[in-house]
Amino acid sequence: MKHEIEDLLMAMDRRLDCYGAGDPDCLLAMFGLRWDDVAFRPRRLARDAMLHEALPAANVAFLLIHLEELGFQVDPAPLISELRPSLEKRPLLSSAELSVFWYSQTRGRNPPCRVKPHGTQYGMRPLQSWKTPEGYRVELHGDESGHVALLEVHSPRFQRRPEPVETVCPDCGHTYRRGDPESSEFHRREHRKRMRYLNPQPHARMLAARQSEPDPELVTSFSPAWKHREMYDRAYAFKREFRYDFIQWQSPKGEDDRQAHGYLIADEAGAIVGACAFRWRESQWGLQWVWISPLHRRQGHLGQRWQAFRKRFGDFQVETPVSDAMRAFLARRGDSALIEGEAAHPNERP
Ligand SMILES: [Zn+2]
Repeated sequence: MKHEIEDLLMAMDRRLDCYGAGDPDCLLAMFGLRWDDVAFRPRRLARDAMLHEALPAANVAFLLIHLEELGFQVDPAPLISELRPSLEKRPLLSSAELSVFWYSQTRGRNPPCRVKPHGTQYGMRPLQSWKTPEGYRVELHGDESGHVALLEVHSPRFQRRPEPVETVCPDCGHTYRRGDPESSEFHRREHRKRMRYLNPQPHARMLAARQSEPDPELVTSFSPAWKHREMYDRAYAFKREFRYDFIQWQSPKGEDDRQAHGYLIADEAGAIVGACAFRWRESQWGLQWVWISPLHRRQGHLGQRWQAFRKRFGDFQVETPVSDAMRAFLARRGDSALIEGEAAHPNERP
């Protein structure tokens, strides 16, 4: 509650008198916070409630953290140690909660904090500077007549780190910020996931399926979940590579379309090097998408299966988007007319 915050500030540092430096409305505005309206839970039949100005506890901690940086004798630590355990398992944090979460690592190490009481002014010069008991260096800047326009606080142990560099991984194509541990960790996870299909290794279940199934590469709505996961990964790779809008396989767990015919394209060693999917489109089959791992392209994997696909699905339509490599592939076979919305090229065999 606002009145409790006023009392708290005043009790911590007498300079934070609510008619002076501790005016909570001014402090909130300075640090980009806003009051919430809260009410005590009404009795069952009550129709209206009295609203009070209040701040979530994490925002109070955020306020105290900044006041400490400014050199006031406030101690955010007790409130933060109360709040910290509740944040451990939360998937999403507000920016105030983030500063609570990081407090023990960032105390005294934050980048310079700048407060502009009256907006930006030009031609400022340093007016005054001092060190707080905790070692923060405070600088006042202002104009010729001595009006303060900017207050800057430097943490005692702040070290400027090199800015993270946006980097594209040459192997998996993921863009991340090198030098930012969070982003690098995310890349490592994504890298492992992508390399499974970008650089596939012999697949034990595919090898087993070859021993026991008549059509081991076929994936339908009746196929086991591992096949759907492999299909989904390649459909995802297709989406990423061709910047398509959606993933053209229902889920890593299955596919409801009874007519869908997915194929996992495996090499001799049993590594799944790619996949493609056929679907029934009103009056004919459509080849919805094909994706082969870049390391395994131009090695005839699709070519070896092409005749069988033509036999099984007839004059199917090759649906767009069609890559240049796929166009060249179809042209070599005299099958350019299969491309959705295109007629046969006059120079081609019928
Ligand atoms: Zn990578």
